[in-house]
Amino acid sequence: MLEVHDLHVRYGEIAATNGISLTVGDGEIVAVTGANGAGKSSTLNAVAGIVHPTSGSIRFDGQEMAACPSHECIRRGIVQVPEGRKIFGTLTVLENLQLGAYRLGSFQIDSAGVDEVLEQFPILADRLHVPASCLSGGQAQMLALARGLMAQPKLLLLDEPTLGLSPIAADDVFDLIRGLREIGLTILMVEQNVHQTLALADRAYVIEGGCVVLKGDARDVASASGLTSAYLGMADQSERISPSERSSPEEQEIIKTRTAENRDIFQNGNRI
Ligand code: ATP
Repeated sequence: MLEVHDLHVRYGEIAATNGISLTVGDGEIVAVTGANGAGKSSTLNAVAGIVHPTSGSIRFDGQEMAACPSHECIRRGIVQVPEGRKIFGTLTVLENLQLGAYRLGSFQIDSAGVDEVLEQFPILADRLHVPASCLSGGQAQMLALARGLMAQPKLLLLDEPTLGLSPIAADDVFDLIRGLREIGLTILMVEQNVHQTLALADRAYVIEGGCVVLKGDARDVASASGLTSAYLGMADQSERISPSERSSPEEQEIIKTRTAENRDIFQNGNRI
């Protein structure tokens, strides 16, 4: 369904991704994980059309999307649930859900669309008419997910869906994502909660310094010897799996340079 090849995203001087390639097949849950600043959100935002890559290819259902604006990505069925939820606190739960149906060309007030989505989110069904600002963090994340589903996505992008949640609320979100897999949804998710994510996903990519340093079946990645160091941003090149795909010396050099570059830019305050 999705094929990302050699993706480069830059913010001015900062190289956020440095040649990321990944695929997502129909009905799969694919996780992208890694340390802070590794380039996970930039990858997801490029797939969603929120940022435009400087080079590389993003093919969705066989069509090139790298230059598509976000509204076109949504129209074609790529729907992102953003980091930090970004729900509208002054609108009711129902109104937030209705906004999610925007791509379908109509607001589905009390329609089958809302009822269908609410089947997955009974907690929201009881709170339809309260302002979204009254929801707990876990409920707000449920609303953000439900709003995403209102657009009837072909590919759902989840950016840090458990960020800032209590362990119990995070468990509920993971359970819900499991439920979405059962209804056949295809999901590409970015998460730092590495162990629960790898237990849930079919396949995973670990990113460090804008490059994929580990990838494969999620269970294999979970037990890979290099996972901890990659996740902490200190992967030893020799620990990386898939020898045929192991970073070349040139790529290793790029990782080092990019990390040093970013540290320098960060320390000197030259950020956009
Ligand atoms: P986090 O989990 O902290 O969000 P991440 O793995 O999602 O990290 P990105 O947010 O993609 O990583 O960031 C990758 C790099 O790009 C980092 O060095 C980050 O500081 C930088 N970056 C991200 N967004 C911007 C921006 N708008 N302007 C400048 N630099 C940015």
